[in-house]
Amino acid sequence: MKNEKALVVFSGGQDSTTCLFWAMEQFKEVEAVTFNYNQRHKLEIEIAEKIAAEQRIRHHVLDMSLLNQLAPNALTREDIAIEQEEGSLPSTFVPGRNLLFLSFASVLANQTGARHIVTGVCETDFSGYPDCRDQFIKSCNVTVNLAMDEQLVFHTPLMWLDKEETWGLADSLGALDYVRHKTLTCYNGIPADGCGDCPACVLRKKGLDAYLARKEAAK
Ligand SMILES: [Zn+2]
Repeated sequence: MKNEKALVVFSGGQDSTTCLFWAMEQFKEVEAVTFNYNQRHKLEIEIAEKIAAEQRIRHHVLDMSLLNQLAPNALTREDIAIEQEEGSLPSTFVPGRNLLFLSFASVLANQTGARHIVTGVCETDFSGYPDCRDQFIKSCNVTVNLAMDEQLVFHTPLMWLDKEETWGLADSLGALDYVRHKTLTCYNGIPADGCGDCPACVLRKKGLDAYLARKEAAK
C-alpha cells in the first residue's frame, strides 16, 4: 500500500485525526475530505482545515448542507438539545449519514485517483449508528465498487478499538499530544480537552485517563 493514494474521511476530531496519522504511515500519498453540513460549530471545519494544512495534506471540503434539509436535529439546528436516553439513538442521529459520506468520498476518490478510503468509524464505542457497523462498511465497499466498476478498498483502523486503544494507536504513531491538543470532539465546540461535560468529552477523557494510567503502570 506504500505506493498508493488514500483519502481520509476527516472531521478534525480525535478519531479521524488518528486515522489521518495512520494513513500517512501506510500510504505514499494522503488526501482528506471534510463534509460541511452546517455543523453546529463552524469551528469543526476550521480545525479540520488547520490540521490538514499543518500536516501538508490536500484537503477537500464538500458541501453537504442538504443534510440539514433531510434531518433537522441537534447537530444541525441550534434549538434542539443534545441528549441520549438509555438504549435509544442520540438526538445527533442523521439516518444514513455515513452511507452518504462514504458514497461521496468514493466518487471523490474515483476522481482524484485514490484507491483507498480511510474512515474512523468504530463498533466498540457504538453509539447506535447502524451505518458505522463493520458489516455495513464492507457492504458499502462492495456497492460503490459495483457502482463505479472500481477497486476501492475501505479501511477502518478503529473499528474494533475502544477509546483507550485509540489513544494508544495515536501514541504509537507519535501523535498523542497532537491529537490531544489540536482536535475537536466536544459537542459544545471547545477544542482539545473540551467542556468536560458532554457525552463526547466524557468518553474521550475516560479513554485518555485509562490509557495514560496504563502507560504509567507499564513504566
Ligand atoms: Zn464537551
